[in-house]
Amino acid sequence: MKKIAGLLALLLVLTGCAQASKHQKDFFAMDTFFELTAYGEHAQEALEAAEAISMELDAELSAVNPESALYALNETGGGPVEGDCAELLGIALPLCESTGGAFDITLLRLSQAWGFSGGEERVPEASEVAALLNSAGWEKISYENHTVSIPEGAGLDFGAIAKGYAGQKISELLASYRVESAMLSLGGNVQVLGRKPDGSLWNVGIADPSDEVRIAGSVAAENAAVVTSGAYKRYFEQNGVRYHHILDPETGAPAESGLLSVTIIAENGALADALSTALFVMGEEKALDYWREHGGFETVLITEDGRVLATEGAAFTPAEESDYSYSVVG
Ligand code: AMP
Ligand code: MG
Repeated sequence: MKKIAGLLALLLVLTGCAQASKHQKDFFAMDTFFELTAYGEHAQEALEAAEAISMELDAELSAVNPESALYALNETGGGPVEGDCAELLGIALPLCESTGGAFDITLLRLSQAWGFSGGEERVPEASEVAALLNSAGWEKISYENHTVSIPEGAGLDFGAIAKGYAGQKISELLASYRVESAMLSLGGNVQVLGRKPDGSLWNVGIADPSDEVRIAGSVAAENAAVVTSGAYKRYFEQNGVRYHHILDPETGAPAESGLLSVTIIAENGALADALSTALFVMGEEKALDYWREHGGFETVLITEDGRVLATEGAAFTPAEESDYSYSVVG
């Protein structure tokens, strides 16, 4: 009898595993490749819905698509906002403040001048940068009664936060379909829902910024976003100098902070995305000060001089053949 009960239990476990069937959906949105994997019986329909909201988010939040709600706002210098634009403004503005402006959503015209938000990649004249910088600045935004006013000569850009926000929205959507296990990769930004179907933690690789096909290590995560900002992700070279897409709001030029990449691990995708950009701009010392002061997230910093610094809670494991030295920071 006992044997039969044992066999039955085993059978139940096995069929339970088989039920957690794997479903995948890959598509292009937000200027990048979305690769969504979800498990379980509702996963397929949940992923269909996820593709649909990804397209909607793209159509609302893109600063370069002339059909988007954000584009229209930038054209008119502001106006009434609703839906995701409103929600994202509500999330982004306090982060502009708390990061001391390292994260600044008003840099669109500068990003365009460098050719990173449409147009041709080029090094703008110092005078052009100075003029555009003068018009930009998150403190100049007013946002009251569902109405935003954008400073003259500036434009809003959600490029540093929109993918993380999308990851968050997709994760919540999948959960509403009773999906318990999913891994979302939005152009390398990862958001995981629950644990792996076998109950273990997800392992998320962190790219080696000097050689993107390799990883510098990985972090173990559940119900979290793992978002990396790096100089290696988008850049061009001119006269032997490399210009990348993360701008220092103080200079209007690519941030030179001594970091190659910053990974943030946080429960919320939008927060992780905004902070990955902000801490990249801040550089090692200020980034770690920000972490100590604010908490609520973990981080892995990779420096230009070959070091990986991870907070203890990041649960980082260096790659076996890594050239970086590794230390845990407290
Ligand atoms: P990420 O890859 O998340 O670090 O975001 C980089 C993108 O955000 C750029 O391509 C710009 O569109 C925008 N961006 C660049 N610098 C900043 C900044 N300091 N604060 C906010 N957004 C920025
Ligand atoms: Mg970001």
